[in-house]
Amino acid sequence: MSEKQQKLLKELYEYNREATVLSSCGAVLNWDERTYMPRGGAENRANMISLISGMVHEKQTSPRIGEIINELLIGGIDAEEDSVDAANVRELKRDYELSIKIPKSLIEELSKTITLAQGRWQEARAKSDFPAFLPWLEKVVKLKQQVAEALGYEGKPYNAMLDIYEPGATTDEIIETFERLRDELVGLLEKIKSTGKEPDTSIITRDFPVELQKKFGVKASQAIGFNYDGGRLDETAHPFCIGFGPGDTRITTRYNKNHFPGAFFGILHESGHGIYNQGLLAEHYGTPCGESISLGIHESQSRMWENMVGRSKPFWKYFFPKAQKTFPDALCNVSLDQFYFAINDVRPSLIRIESDEATYNLHILLRFEIESAFFNGDLNLKDVPFIWNENFEKYFGIKPPDDARGCLQDVHWSAGFIGYFPTYTLGNLYAAQFFAHADKEVGGLHAQFEMGDFKPLFDWLRKNIHIHGRRYRAQELVKKVTGQPLSHKPLIDYMTKKFGELYGF
Ligand code: ZN
Repeated sequence: MSEKQQKLLKELYEYNREATVLSSCGAVLNWDERTYMPRGGAENRANMISLISGMVHEKQTSPRIGEIINELLIGGIDAEEDSVDAANVRELKRDYELSIKIPKSLIEELSKTITLAQGRWQEARAKSDFPAFLPWLEKVVKLKQQVAEALGYEGKPYNAMLDIYEPGATTDEIIETFERLRDELVGLLEKIKSTGKEPDTSIITRDFPVELQKKFGVKASQAIGFNYDGGRLDETAHPFCIGFGPGDTRITTRYNKNHFPGAFFGILHESGHGIYNQGLLAEHYGTPCGESISLGIHESQSRMWENMVGRSKPFWKYFFPKAQKTFPDALCNVSLDQFYFAINDVRPSLIRIESDEATYNLHILLRFEIESAFFNGDLNLKDVPFIWNENFEKYFGIKPPDDARGCLQDVHWSAGFIGYFPTYTLGNLYAAQFFAHADKEVGGLHAQFEMGDFKPLFDWLRKNIHIHGRRYRAQELVKKVTGQPLSHKPLIDYMTKKFGELYGF
């Protein structure tokens, strides 16, 4: 690389490093707001966060960045496609274009509208009154369609939304996988139902003292590899994970004395996100190669540790005796099999966030089908409740009694998060495909879990996924790591085996 190119790169990285450090400051404010801030601090905190966001945006949209990227590309920086610098420039070009293409007036109008729309959505949900929310949904969707036009897209407008959260993904590519997954899941659910078997879930709603839940959760998250020298676990109303940069990743949870799985699997889930954050290389902090790839890949890490590890029998062969010692009153007369069945109870439910591992994706697929249709102009917004209820009955075999427990249950559309839902299912698909491949390469993961040894899987994820940052796009990473494009099969195979054994089919 010429001296000139090196100087330009250095300047570009310096811009981005400052923006990243500022974002990290914003993350600290955000974490504090959601954990310890007294209610009285809300207004000033909003000012603080908004000032920092403005500063980050200003840094990221400096015309100088566009000039440098152009010069670097003219100089042929992208010739070595696989190099870290080429990947950084490719991703910084994407970020830069995303941030300058949307006019400031549109950003401001959208920001005002979604604040109001979320308030109206809350009221509408409380009264189960979809018509009251409809005009606001129309406003949000119209503005987001303008965003899609400003960003540009190939094919359908929804692709522009998807690309924000899952760079490079297109509706056409995932629709086939999703449809196959949906048909298989509906079949799986029918099989489960037809066995008539049900676990005794009262086991997991006994008395589980919060202090002991906390201790037990920390132990398990440490065992799978969350590093508490570079992280903390705190409490919050709506659990999340947030990284402040190298050496400091925060996870959160919410305890319920009479519901063991909520906090425990929540901790494993957020630890999965946290382990990914902790695995990003500090030397790349401030450049895309030091950042996570996409929401889907992030979710693949949390779901893998939560479900494929944490809800597996081998995991509990190791941890159940410890759980019995920690919670003797609740678990002394419970067998491992009873407990394992109770934490893997499958039953169709109306509410997405309360759903189990097997039905969860059906909730997502339903939303994806509806939002992509209305965003592309193939479905009138006023018909959303009708389509929702009709499809819900088709997939789950039950009918939502009202819109509060139907199409009004999620905050996403009122908040303008269109294109976000599919990343949850992409996460589950990636997780299953990665896990199956890791098991092939490492060998005997389950036998290792039984011994309390999670390091081989942890190391495999570090080497194959975490350390790359945004060097590869998600679709490319999956192919590179597993040798295959994304498919519905590993997830279906995993679920069929697991639930087949549990329910006996
Ligand atoms: Zn998550």
